Amino acid sequence: MIRVACFKCKNRFTLDEEFVAVELAKLDNPHPRFFTAHCPRCRQAIKVSLRGVRLPEVPPPAMGEPAEEEKAKGGEPEKKAGKAPAEE
Ligand SMILES: [Zn+2]
Repeated sequence: MIRVACFKCKNRFTLDEEFVAVELAKLDNPHPRFFTAHCPRCRQAIKVSLRGVRLPEVPPPAMGEPAEEEKAKGGEPEKKAGKAPAEE
């Protein structure tokens, strides 16, 4: 478990290494130096250093992501895959 302390509300919580690894696998950069966690109490985004953290190997997300070719065929205007509105 990775211990995290919220600097905003002082809440302390832990992150599961596997959860972090799975979340990071969804990102463009699967080996960042920080993981952005969200405080379960106040939803504050907290950067957690991954230095010294051993993350388990996780398979790439198989969420049925459409292949590039398939997208082009659809003819639908592509939505900007931006950040969620909750993110800053
Ligand atoms: Zn908090």
